[in-house]
Amino acid sequence: MSEVLAGLNVAVELAFALLALSTILAWARERNARRGFLALAVTALAVDVFDSQAMGQPGLVGRLTIDVSLMTFLLSGYGLVMFRDSFVPYRRRTRTAITLIVAAVAALGLALQLPASPDAAHSAEQSLAIIAVIAVWAYCLFDPTVTFWLAARGRPAVEKARLRAISAGCLGLLAVVVLGTLAGSFNPAVSAIVDVAAIAIVPLLYVAFFPPVWMRRLWRQPDEDQLRLALHDLLLYSADRETLAQRALTWAERLVGGDAAFVIDSDGTLLATRDISPEVASEFAKRREHLVTGPDGTPSRIGPNLVVPLDLKEGKGAMVIVSGRLTPLFGDDEMTRLRQYATSITAGLDRVLLNSRVAALERAKSDFLSIASHELRGPMTVIKGYLTMLDAGALGEVSPKVQSVLPLLISKSDEVNWMIEQMIEASRLEEGRLALKKQKVDIVELTEMAIDGVKLLVGNHNISVDQPPEAIDAEVDPDRFQIVVRNLLSNAAKYSPTGSDIDVKIRRDGTVAMVTVKDRGIGISREDQGRLFTRFNRIDNQTHVQGTGLGLWLSREIALMHDGDLVVESDVGKGSTFTFTVPITR
Ligand code: ADP
Repeated sequence: MSEVLAGLNVAVELAFALLALSTILAWARERNARRGFLALAVTALAVDVFDSQAMGQPGLVGRLTIDVSLMTFLLSGYGLVMFRDSFVPYRRRTRTAITLIVAAVAALGLALQLPASPDAAHSAEQSLAIIAVIAVWAYCLFDPTVTFWLAARGRPAVEKARLRAISAGCLGLLAVVVLGTLAGSFNPAVSAIVDVAAIAIVPLLYVAFFPPVWMRRLWRQPDEDQLRLALHDLLLYSADRETLAQRALTWAERLVGGDAAFVIDSDGTLLATRDISPEVASEFAKRREHLVTGPDGTPSRIGPNLVVPLDLKEGKGAMVIVSGRLTPLFGDDEMTRLRQYATSITAGLDRVLLNSRVAALERAKSDFLSIASHELRGPMTVIKGYLTMLDAGALGEVSPKVQSVLPLLISKSDEVNWMIEQMIEASRLEEGRLALKKQKVDIVELTEMAIDGVKLLVGNHNISVDQPPEAIDAEVDPDRFQIVVRNLLSNAAKYSPTGSDIDVKIRRDGTVAMVTVKDRGIGISREDQGRLFTRFNRIDNQTHVQGTGLGLWLSREIALMHDGDLVVESDVGKGSTFTFTVPITR
């Protein structure tokens, strides 16, 4: 049995040595205070475990092993509270007090030459010193255990699991030491069981302190799914930048914890705040420290604040998370998540800004269209009126030269008037004020009137009209119906050579009346046909022909408002055929 026990003792020592080695390696891989203190705590414990086996020897060696044991014992505790400090920082004063107390107790223990075991004979002062050492050490293990446990409350899933695991790890350390110390005092069988328990705890400690990636992912899963959904909503449906920033803060806090948070825009103003007064947040933003951040958008710590840079189109902004006393400051994994998150938020904020700019431009364009068309209409009516009077001789005789140019001037003013009319109708449509005044009319007659109305504009072409002998009745807005036909005719003339044929066909086809306008002009490519009916769209190679790019859009909208349609068939170089349909009255 004693051999088994001796073997188990060696196994405990070995397990501890391995754990210590892995913490040292972890620290060597990434040298930060957190890993350093953990390595200190575990290594000190491992040394203590070895050292305690050698204790009880006489003379100087004996004394030395006791002193080393005392130091490593206290150091293991100190390492652990400082490890806790790196997650959940103490106030500066508390940290100093703990350091001083541990140092003082160590000095006292050394000065009083404590015995190898509390059971050995010792003086009253030595008893006090032993109690002080054990009390300090117990505090150093209990404080992190309780703090990590409490800090886990109300945290998002991943933080909670991780903090609880660390808390359990601290408790595990305590258990191993207590079990290890007690093991010797039981009968061999119980001792063996206790040793086995101690060995079993060691790998669990490793997992608690260095959770593998798969485990972190498992912890994160519930939040991750929610975050993905939330991000989707956040980026697609946030009305304005303030709302987006506000929602982003809620999730940032869920990702890393924090007492408060705020978002600074590229111009240094605040976009959103959460649990912090705008004045305090503005103060921080004014200092502009958040602009001096690490490379590649890496989050950086400025005092108690975690600054996540937002590389916005307009300049640098930042999301700042203010850590509180119980905020765990997490490692690379979480920082990387936060960085990815910041990239999404940046894209979202930029998109909302762009959207609002586009909307503002749209408004400006509509306003301009409305104002310009209404302002132009008055003067043009006067000009057209006087030209017509001059032409008719109502203002007296004019020279033959003037008389000869009057028809051209009248036709040009008709063209301008026609454009103004399109613009007015278009702005009405945009503002939702284009209400149809439908009545039952004969489409054949209406089309003839429309052709008459553009006679001057299309005078240089051969227009042939193919119409049925009987009337085709339909419920339409006569003025708007004519706008469509006139537009198709004037386009046919504008985009085909002078003297070429334009065929107009009026037909009844089942339940619809249709007007087809066919030209032998330049035609429209398939690609251009796709965007022909959009607002302000003009095909590039025809910029020398006058136009607003509103006609076809307006015409199609009018057709649709009548429950009809406007479609095109066209071949480049051969010509185009536009077909306008409206339902007929039964
Ligand atoms: P615009 O005032 O420029 O004529 P429209 O909306 O009526 O505006 O037409 C849009 C564009 O479609 C025109 O700029 C022209 O390039 C093309 N287009 C329209 N009708 C024809 C046609 N019959 N033949 C060739 N191209 C046409």
